[in-house]
Amino acid sequence: MHAEIIAVGSELTTGEKLDTNSQWLSLALADAGISVRSHLTVADDLEAMVDALRSLAARSELLIVSGGLGPTLDDLTRQALAVLTGGELVLHEPSLEHIREMFARRARPMPERNVIQAMFPAGSTPLPNARGTAPGIWMEWQSPGCTTACRIAALPGVPSELKEMFHREVLPRLGGGARVIRRRRINCFGAGESAVEDLLGELTARGRDPEIGITAHEATITLRIVAVGRTEAECREKLERAATEIRSRLGGLVFGEEDDELEHVVVRQLLAAACTLATAESGTGGLLAHRLTQVMGFRGCYRGGVIVPDDRAKMTLLDVPPDVLAANGPLSAETARAMAEGCRRRFGTDYALAVTECPEPLKGSDPFAGHSSAQVLYRSPAKGSDPVHEPIAWVALAGPRGVSVEEERLAGDPAILRSRIAKSALNRLRLDLLRGE
Ligand code: AMP
Ligand code: MG
Repeated sequence: MHAEIIAVGSELTTGEKLDTNSQWLSLALADAGISVRSHLTVADDLEAMVDALRSLAARSELLIVSGGLGPTLDDLTRQALAVLTGGELVLHEPSLEHIREMFARRARPMPERNVIQAMFPAGSTPLPNARGTAPGIWMEWQSPGCTTACRIAALPGVPSELKEMFHREVLPRLGGGARVIRRRRINCFGAGESAVEDLLGELTARGRDPEIGITAHEATITLRIVAVGRTEAECREKLERAATEIRSRLGGLVFGEEDDELEHVVVRQLLAAACTLATAESGTGGLLAHRLTQVMGFRGCYRGGVIVPDDRAKMTLLDVPPDVLAANGPLSAETARAMAEGCRRRFGTDYALAVTECPEPLKGSDPFAGHSSAQVLYRSPAKGSDPVHEPIAWVALAGPRGVSVEEERLAGDPAILRSRIAKSALNRLRLDLLRGE
């Protein structure tokens, strides 16, 4: 069965509020074996709502409408449903009684306009609302020229009321879904979206079962596998087969699954190897330390970190030799190496990660203000003067097997620069620990 979702509310179409109900409904419907084909967001406008209802009811088996059931003049879902079916709005006494009781319990008089919430399109079924005043609406509507009816559930926009009503009133009416849908996420780092897609080849082709989609978030690539089957076991088997194939094609690019971030993996590896880590950061401003200290159990391996934005801090906190700084500047492989070595020595850890300064985009070089992000100029932190076009930062890893230094290219979205470099540094350590296993 395919479903579609209409989210109603001008606060959504103006961008003031995010439509989280559709997201939640899609996940909940998928759990029930129903896939959602589209989301539509409509303003509080009767004509637009009727248009949307007409076209979707004519092509869908199930339509979920969220919002527009409040008592105010801009809440028009029930009126739109009445226009769709060509019927009147009819008062439902038990619903009115429930609304009166809700107000009485709060010791407030019921405003006259709340009566509208007890009005329903003729032939529809009111859905009780355990948490609020607005009952939902259940109805079936066979569009002219269609051979089957579309089942329509209109639910309140308030997320807690919508969720409760969906579980209590809508799911039981949908009958046991003939299908099960299960999902799995595989997380990768170290290559771009299109490179990952190339490596996966035909696996990401549309219409395959299981279907594999790719999304990117701050340089982490997530592969979303969706399997459809008759049973949970069948889905699990399909997901397992796809995950194994993905891992064999992507190798070390895969670092984890589901909510795993690189720092979770690194902390797990360090704990398993009984190794310790410290960090020294300039350009990432403490982001590495922030990420690591959010992982449960980090105290078992992370000994601490320092933020060293200037030469003085690097010399006094990490013993970076003044002549190294004088000869190479703060943005250099030599300084990164000295930072990592000093950090490892000072903290007495097995590993130390160091990040040099990261040139920041020049103020006023907003990529959306006239030129493409490829042309963004960066401030060179070395002397604060010459802008550079293709800036780099340096990441050093000091460990039992010596020190390695690598450059990080900073081209790409400036907004995620720090996060990308912090992740890159964690990934370097992850790969090093993998090699040592
Ligand atoms: P309504 O039923 O349209 O009166 O919505 C009641 C409240 O629920 C609104 O004021 C919003 O704060 C919230 N709401 C409505 N629609 C959504 C949605 N799609 N996602 C998240 N919140 C919503
Ligand atoms: Mg509304």
